[in-house]
Amino acid sequence: AKEQGRNNFQFFSEEMNHSILEHLAIEKEINEAIERNQFTLFYQPKISLFDYRTTGVETLIRWQHPDKGIITPDNFIPVAEETGQIIDIGNWVLEQACRQISSLIRKNIMPADAKVAVNLSAKQFTDPDLAGRIRNVLEITEIPPRCLELEITESTLMDDVEAAIRIMQEIKSTGVSIAIDDFGTGYSSLSYIKRFPIDVLKVDRSFVMDIPDDKNDMAITAAVIAMAHKLDLNVVAEGVETDEQLQYLRLNNCDEGQGYLFSRPLSLGQLHQYLVISAER
Ligand code: C2E
Ligand code: CA
Ligand code: CA
Ligand code: CA
Repeated sequence: AKEQGRNNFQFFSEEMNHSILEHLAIEKEINEAIERNQFTLFYQPKISLFDYRTTGVETLIRWQHPDKGIITPDNFIPVAEETGQIIDIGNWVLEQACRQISSLIRKNIMPADAKVAVNLSAKQFTDPDLAGRIRNVLEITEIPPRCLELEITESTLMDDVEAAIRIMQEIKSTGVSIAIDDFGTGYSSLSYIKRFPIDVLKVDRSFVMDIPDDKNDMAITAAVIAMAHKLDLNVVAEGVETDEQLQYLRLNNCDEGQGYLFSRPLSLGQLHQYLVISAER
């Protein structure tokens, strides 16, 4: 039994070493990526479904890896969240996005009433320095507070609802707006939604995706839009890919849409071009 126990232990510890080593390797690579400026920001336009004007952009991080090419966030944000590196990365994203979009606004390339949205991870959300950091970024990048929006997932907010409301109130006191991201995938009870000091609700792509084939998803999407409007919230549909989805969303008075039908996420240079062309139309 002793023998077997040792074998078990060895097997187990090898497995652990493997995952810990892998983890450490990614952690080390992320540190190098930060030092070597390998992170870059893409921006995906959000479109008004009433007049098709661009109402803003969502900031999406990419990792330009020297050997592996462009790595999308799902492949490193979860590790960075675990190691705590997300705080450094997130602060960099916030400042860089505000700097780049502030410059486009000052050059009159980005409409002055448009917003730049930045995703906030759970760790960033509970960082006690968050509100101070937002104030600092607004000041140094000279972006008007009304031009910045923070996207926070429903699940981040449901961890500790009372604490979340307090943090959201602090964020709101800086003048920036708050969107609930991936709405419908978490477990928020509707009684909390009305207590959250939020401005925008983003309907998760999983509901939009199967319009018009899935009648349940269609019903949920329509109900979420109606509810959000009753609560005075703006509604953005994520992942709009087809004209049928667009028509259904318009029929149900969804305010804005975001998705490949309108535009893929764009590099800063591509966004610049996109804004110039859409202003000419
Ligand atoms: P998300 O916040 O839900 O962002 C939307 C994702 O959907 C993006 O994936 C975007 O490229 C993709 N998308 C947009 N339109 C369509 C469409 O029509 N069809 C399909 N199939 N996909 C569409 P991406 O850029 O790979 O980002 C994935 C997730 O990574 C984001 O989901 C967000 O949770 C996270 N993320 C991205 N950038 C950051 C960041 O700077 N900080 C943090 N904390 N998380 C980030
Ligand atoms: Ca988002
Ligand atoms: Ca989302
Ligand atoms: Ca989503």
